[in-house]
Amino acid sequence: MRHSRKIYFLFFIGILLSCSNNDTIENSDNFLTIQPTILTLNVDAEEVNKYFTVKSDKSLQVNSDNPDWCKPTLSNVSIDNLKIAVSENQSSEERRAVVTVSNGLESKYITIVQAGVQADISVDKSSVLLDLGKREFALEISSNVEIAFELPEWIVEKEGNSWGKGKRRYRFSATDLPDELLSRDGVMIIKLKDHAEAGNFVQVRVFQKAITKIIAHRGFWSIPEYPQNSLASLQRAIDLEIYGSELDVWITQDGVVVLNHDPTINGINVENSTYAALSNVRLSNGEPIPTLENCIEMIKKSEKTKLIIEIKPHSTTANENRVVAAVLNMVNSSGVADKVDYISFSQNVCKALIADSPQNRVAYLNGNLTPEALSTQGYWGLDYAQNVLKSNTGWVQSAHTLGLTTNVWTVNATDDLNYFIQMGVNFITTDYPQNLKNLLSTYQ
Ligand code: MG
Repeated sequence: MRHSRKIYFLFFIGILLSCSNNDTIENSDNFLTIQPTILTLNVDAEEVNKYFTVKSDKSLQVNSDNPDWCKPTLSNVSIDNLKIAVSENQSSEERRAVVTVSNGLESKYITIVQAGVQADISVDKSSVLLDLGKREFALEISSNVEIAFELPEWIVEKEGNSWGKGKRRYRFSATDLPDELLSRDGVMIIKLKDHAEAGNFVQVRVFQKAITKIIAHRGFWSIPEYPQNSLASLQRAIDLEIYGSELDVWITQDGVVVLNHDPTINGINVENSTYAALSNVRLSNGEPIPTLENCIEMIKKSEKTKLIIEIKPHSTTANENRVVAAVLNMVNSSGVADKVDYISFSQNVCKALIADSPQNRVAYLNGNLTPEALSTQGYWGLDYAQNVLKSNTGWVQSAHTLGLTTNVWTVNATDDLNYFIQMGVNFITTDYPQNLKNLLSTYQ
């Protein structure tokens, strides 16, 4: 009895083992296994291949619902016979794909979750200065995401740049600075393309500064047909299409504003004479002594050139106040205020012009006031002799920082012209405007 119980027990174990063998998947009528069995894969943004061993008693089909970047292939060998190739994710956003493995009766789903790249943008500079007439510039941009630009309307991206992972050189060009502007600045925004909400962006400030502008000293003269302070020399400056033509004015006893450099002409003191007393005066080209009114009529028709009116220091404050009032009345009533700048050696004249309107552009000539003092007193700018600016080399920069314009007179030698162009003065007053125009063209 004891012996037969032992036999029964062994028989029972044999049945258990037999059942276990019968339950193995290889012996099933229908099986589909995947190793490894983890069917949700988290991968980073890099390109990657994932391998699985798939076994089935029937032929298999595989496909992906996002085959553009997640491609399954089946090799039909016993090991690692499912390959899922995931391409690099260049966007900053996570993406998902599902690979389906099916033997027709059963399906398994492998979910691929791929992270987006960590957005990263850096630029080789945070600001760009465009001066001396230059308009083009480049930025070296490093990024691991595709980028886009938001540009001021006066900056355009030049062709020839293409997106690629890593550093790229992008080229830009500013449009011409309008004549009426001495400078302008703007901000370029470099951001993630199509993902502005990600908030990752870089700003680059661009400051465009006009190249030095030309002022013809007493008109564009130098030969007898075009004498200083004549209508002919003014017309020649207008024809040269330069920024400004300077002239000197006095007021006669009877209130006519006329052009002349010195207090006297042909021995006649202008302030103390009537306009009629000057009627016989002739310039070297035969012109009568010009009036400011004549000049204003000409400047009305000028598209580019302004009048730079130097009001001479008169013998009395009363005469200075008279000449200021007469000039302002003429300029304003003629509608040419935006085409006139004022200069004077006389602080009284300048103060009267500034007091009339802060819109009047007034620059001081005498060189004995610092940029800070000029700024405090409401001047538009300084207009100093070249030796003054060579002795005070920081004044141009100080003036610009204070928002003042800078003008230097009277600069004719090429070395000096280059010196002040490179110093960045806004205006150079010269006896040779054509030479300066030629020189400036070499900078661009
Ligand atoms: Mg002058």
